Amino acid sequence: MTGDVPPEEFRELLHRAADWVADYRGTIEEQGISPQVSPGELTNTFPTRAPELGEPLAQIFADLDRLIVPGILHWGHPSFLAYFGSTTTAPGIIGEIIAAALNVSAMTWRTSPIATELETLVLGWLREMLGLSTAFTGVVYDTASISTLHALAAARQEVIPTVREKGIAGGPTLRVYTSDQGHSHIDKAMIMLGHGEANVRRIATDAEFRMEPAALRAALREDLAAGLRPLAVVATVGTTSTTSVDPLPAIAAICREHQLWLHVDAAYGGALAILPEGRWVFEGIEHADSIVINPHKWLFVPLDFSALYVRAPEKLRAAFSIVPEYLASDAAGAEINYMDYGIQLGRRFRALKAWFVFRAFGRHGLIERIREHCRLAQLLTSWVESDADFELAAPVHMGVVCFRARASDDANREIVAAINASGRAYIGHTTLRGRIAIRVGLGNVLTTEEHLADAWALIRAEAARINGEDVTAVAAARAKAASGIAGEARFGVRCVPAPLLPGAFVGDGHA
Ligand code: PLP
Repeated sequence: MTGDVPPEEFRELLHRAADWVADYRGTIEEQGISPQVSPGELTNTFPTRAPELGEPLAQIFADLDRLIVPGILHWGHPSFLAYFGSTTTAPGIIGEIIAAALNVSAMTWRTSPIATELETLVLGWLREMLGLSTAFTGVVYDTASISTLHALAAARQEVIPTVREKGIAGGPTLRVYTSDQGHSHIDKAMIMLGHGEANVRRIATDAEFRMEPAALRAALREDLAAGLRPLAVVATVGTTSTTSVDPLPAIAAICREHQLWLHVDAAYGGALAILPEGRWVFEGIEHADSIVINPHKWLFVPLDFSALYVRAPEKLRAAFSIVPEYLASDAAGAEINYMDYGIQLGRRFRALKAWFVFRAFGRHGLIERIREHCRLAQLLTSWVESDADFELAAPVHMGVVCFRARASDDANREIVAAINASGRAYIGHTTLRGRIAIRVGLGNVLTTEEHLADAWALIRAEAARINGEDVTAVAAARAKAASGIAGEARFGVRCVPAPLLPGAFVGDGHA
């Protein structure tokens, strides 16, 4: 057999798939949120070899509910409150489906003109909605990890102009500075660029988890005296654990003094700037050299979509542009070829889903949804503050609330583990100043006050239950059961969601 699936069969399956998607989304609350499985169990339900002969699509489709859904952690469930919540939305889903059908590569303008031009367009819309200056030019990557990698590569290209030709051997020891709350992707970027994670210097934060400019200044002084070469500062607008916002104006002044690249990781918190009352997070942003914002974290565009804005796009080009003959432009200079701004050649048509979302919700709709998440976060904060058995663990600025039961770390871990094993809600936890905090993230358009109230009731009930138990013994038994199920990755991020594990850790862990 050659060719594709017959058109009529395809059409019929596509209709079924559309119904499946609508049903899944419409009845998602009936699902237990977390899969009740252990690692390897799912794999064992599949044949170890690919089929020799093709199978009817309808048969594969029938296996979706039997083989795939049982292994899903339902991020789109309105009571999924881990990480930053989920950005699944109907317009985003439709955009993804159509992008899959088109399956074009946005590597050069020629390889699909609208994929390039829509990317430029939605980046312009986003920039304007967030109040950023037109001095910044955008490019879309998959994730903030990749955006930051590119920003630091561009910064390095300026500091070591020979680097792309000769590499880093024999060059200076480059240092990058970020707070003790900065995300681990910064370390990964330095690993990838060949400078090593030891050259990410962590700067102390204040009581509200914001980078201390005086500590940054002292670290720079020390490193310069030791003959090291500072490359960039990565300030964070909306840190992973607590959504704290580093003081950009003071950090920018230090960067200017030392002629350092200022990269702002606003992957999550940049979205707040869409609210007039949230613009404060971008105070000083005009001094940044690069900014990363992830609409897949809080602007309702499904994974993946990360926007990097740079003041000098030519520096990205200087670091990355290579044009083999088969990709050479026949209209030099008149077009944007996004392949020139990064390591990737083939690029997905990500702009399409953002265009669907931004149009379907409009700026007002985006604002109202983000405002609602902030309202829910403040509501949860008020519940925590008025309950003598709990305490807030960090100030609440955005859609994330960190708090803890006034009990041991083990007890707090146990609360998270028990909630997540229940399938009725899913929350996270993190470490703050060495202590465990429960972490709730609001970001899902389906989450209502009722869902939050239910989750809070569950948390209180678990806390009360655990209070009456020997928590250390319970935690030890749970850990024993979990051992051999999944490893705990660095920085406490769990590799595999499993019901017996104590919840989904997020960032931090550098302190
Ligand atoms: N920056 C912050 C503040 C984050 O919280 C995260 C992930 O949670 C990242 C960057 C990395 O994002 P991505 O998964 O898009 O690489």
